Amino acid sequence: MTLKIGVIGTGAIGREHIKRITNTLSGGEIVAVTDVNQESANQSVEQYGLNAVVFPDDATLIAEGNVDAVFITSWGPAHEGSVLKAIEAGKYVFCEKPLATTAEGCMRIVEAEMKHGKKLVQVGFMRRYDSGYVQLKEAIDNNFIGEPLMLHCAHRNPTVGESYSTDMAISDTLIHEIDVLHWLVNDDYKSVQVLFPKKNKYAHQGLRDPQMVILETKTGIIINVEISVNCQYGYDIQCEVVGEEGIVKLPEVASITYRKNAALGANILMDWKDRFIDAYDVELQHFMDSIRDNGEPNGPTAWDGYIAQVTADACIKAQESGRKEDVVLKEQPDFYKNNLKTAQV
Ligand code: NAP
Repeated sequence: MTLKIGVIGTGAIGREHIKRITNTLSGGEIVAVTDVNQESANQSVEQYGLNAVVFPDDATLIAEGNVDAVFITSWGPAHEGSVLKAIEAGKYVFCEKPLATTAEGCMRIVEAEMKHGKKLVQVGFMRRYDSGYVQLKEAIDNNFIGEPLMLHCAHRNPTVGESYSTDMAISDTLIHEIDVLHWLVNDDYKSVQVLFPKKNKYAHQGLRDPQMVILETKTGIIINVEISVNCQYGYDIQCEVVGEEGIVKLPEVASITYRKNAALGANILMDWKDRFIDAYDVELQHFMDSIRDNGEPNGPTAWDGYIAQVTADACIKAQESGRKEDVVLKEQPDFYKNNLKTAQV
């Protein structure tokens, strides 16, 4: 069975996903595209030689009988409306983060999906499919280092544009750690705090960078995440889990080592697209395979999208207040129980 896919939003990540469905993965075909910028939608069809119809908007694309699943890769504020329309039409959804830009919006999606009665939605938290994080998860779940006590993490970008604002360090950058770290340790967050160290001279005038986010889970695990978006030297993701009996650490990205000019070195990636290229492939293949094999996706759910948004909101509040802020989640509905372990690959 080939999953017929419609893509809403043919910008950077939309095209990356079109490319991998068309050239790399199996079991899916892009049959429809749309974008507020129709020229961009037309170009994507041409660029990848797609046999796809260009629709004027998300509603007409979702209503098309030939579309089984929609990829929502438009800008964040448009996601909620498209996801709700797709659920209403009973279509499968792969939605890039954020699921919605507010916790209330995420809950509307959760409620619509539960009303529909079957899981349709997967959120694009691809780190759960990265082989390094999968190995960490296996080590923790197999009790290899005993109970996890602390996590030391870093999310570093070489540089960002002038439009990148202090809150985007949470909503665009930390959001990936927010999702993957609670999944890793099988726990939910209790509180968050944000500290601002001495400012990096490369940060533009309105931006507070770096930031240190401290997340505490319900069982008391303390997680610190350094966010530096002007680190200059590369795109670098670090994660070290300190347990009762040992430590496990995310592997470095494979690279040759070199000895040259009296130095021993290895290359560091500069672009996030390269760092998680395999994870994106596995993520989308898993989405298509789960629908084919189980009749529903079983990756990160709409509930995971809700958890991420509530936690991100608390972090942004903590940026402003300078205090520890509570993460107040509603009770997880039975509909979404046991999802924390379902995204293993
Ligand atoms: P982008 O290059 O700006 O692409 C977004 C596209 O959506 C643009 O073509 C934009 O058109 C279009 N668009 C805006 N509003 C729309 C609407 N109402 N309906 C349909 N299309 C609309 O951004 P991007 O980097 O691809 O990011 C897209 C989404 O993916 C964001 O939510 C982002 O957070 C997420 N993302 C996730 C990851 C990840 O690692 N999982 C990585 C990158 C991005 P215009 O150009 O005319 O505005």
